[in-house]
Amino acid sequence: MIKYKHMTDNKLIKSAVFIKGAVHDTGLPIEKFPEVAFIGRSNVGKSSVINTLVSRNKLARSSSTPGFTAEANFYLINEEFYLVDLPGYGFARGSHAQRDKIARIIEWYFTSENTDTKKVVLIIDAKVGPTVDDLHFYKFLLENKKDVIIIANKFDKLKQSEVFKAMDVVQKAFEGREIIKYSAREKIGISELFEQIK
Ligand code: GDP
Repeated sequence: MIKYKHMTDNKLIKSAVFIKGAVHDTGLPIEKFPEVAFIGRSNVGKSSVINTLVSRNKLARSSSTPGFTAEANFYLINEEFYLVDLPGYGFARGSHAQRDKIARIIEWYFTSENTDTKKVVLIIDAKVGPTVDDLHFYKFLLENKKDVIIIANKFDKLKQSEVFKAMDVVQKAFEGREIIKYSAREKIGISELFEQIK
């Protein structure tokens, strides 16, 4: 493995290396590290959030990338933990078969005895608010006793006059959870998120 290949402006991230993608236990990386999983609706900006967090332009690939395959992608960060990028759910134009496949991968990842998820970062769209799919997967995560952090991405899209109401809706939907206001575009919330997962 290439160590410290990319140095970055985020001094907390010393290295970030793609290890492999998996869709079931046999595909999991051999070396074990604690895992932080990222989940969210397709197009919510999940790959942008991951890339801003680790200060890499193209580490995580957008679900809109041609040839993108739905997998749980494992990135080794600082040779300390895996950042696991799960496939985006709820793609409006996706076929039933594709939606089922994505739901199966997410369900497998969170229920497998061979994964070691310490935290889950659930990314929602601050402007759109929680969707039916967001709430479905949130409930599923709680049922599986996961430690969930909510990221309200695209916070920059909210007008000043909309912030209070929008955040109130989010807070009510995810009662008692920490909500981090985030903007991958404006680079807001990065240190707060890092603080939660480090
Ligand atoms: P993914 O499918 O969830 O990985 O989403 P992407 O990271 O590919 O982002 C989807 C779209 O949302 C792209 O056009 C991004 O430029 C845009 N986007 C991502 N994050 C933000 C953000 O914080 N603010 C705004 N305004 N747009 C964003």
